[in-house]
Amino acid sequence: MNTAMLQGKTALVTGSTSGIGLGIARALAAQGANVVFNGFGDAAQIAALVKDVAAEFSVETDYSNADMSKASEIEAMMAQAQKRFGGVDILVNNAGIQHVANIEDFPAEKWDAIIAINLTSAFHTSRLALPGMKAKNWGRIINLASVHGLVGSAQKSAYVAAKHGLVGFTKVTALETAKTGVTCNAICPGWVLTPLVQKQVDDRAARDGVAVEVAKAALLAEKQPSGEFVTPEELGALAVFFCSPAADQVRGVAWNMDGGWAAQ
Ligand code: NAD
Repeated sequence: MNTAMLQGKTALVTGSTSGIGLGIARALAAQGANVVFNGFGDAAQIAALVKDVAAEFSVETDYSNADMSKASEIEAMMAQAQKRFGGVDILVNNAGIQHVANIEDFPAEKWDAIIAINLTSAFHTSRLALPGMKAKNWGRIINLASVHGLVGSAQKSAYVAAKHGLVGFTKVTALETAKTGVTCNAICPGWVLTPLVQKQVDDRAARDGVAVEVAKAALLAEKQPSGEFVTPEELGALAVFFCSPAADQVRGVAWNMDGGWAAQ
């Protein structure tokens, strides 16, 4: 039997088939939470992942392939969680994409997709999860923003706008739930070596004609004083803290875990 802190709770983590979302889903499952996975990828690999996490942590798991850019699919995902688990106690809004280009070259459809997936999806999941959380007088909403929710970087207009928006949305959610057992906070990672960042490393290596390891070191040296990547496991531990009783009064923060990036 699982007697861990989050036993009996259900966590829904958007974009949890890879990277940070997967790290957070695993950390919550390790505390006994049932997990609804979401995200894209190879169907057989996802099925194996969902099954393996259930077996490894003795929890129940489910999966939704909902596209976070589509309100109707988000509604279906939340209905699926309601039917299977009676609602969502811990909502982690993590799904996100990136595109890098100067504003004048930025494809309009990329702008729309980034705002939809990285920002608007959190509005839809939150509006659908909050009534159940308020009824139970317990809930946790964790929004995966970024250090780009606090500071800007050139060529990332849509991403920076979406992440600043997500930090603002976090504050309003925290205020609207302030007198309840529901909290909402944002996590603001610096560089984490996931597929999303690997693409930027590879593009940089190709652009500069250097080895991938050299591009990786240069990427870190530019922004992240520690010179080390943040890991999905470290971010998972922070999410677990936000879910703990010790964090009952942590409300509306944008907590950076960024190797010192935003301290500069
Ligand atoms: P990733 O590419 O490894 O994972 C992204 C996840 O989102 C995947 O599971 C993918 O399938 C899913 N996804 C993408 N589009 C989707 C859609 N339309 N609908 C549903 N799922 C979708 O990226 P990651 O680095 O783990 O990023 C996770 C979050 O963390 C993102 O919001 C990202 O902006 C944020 N973040 C990442 C870093 C970093 O350095 N990697 C830093 C700060 C913030």
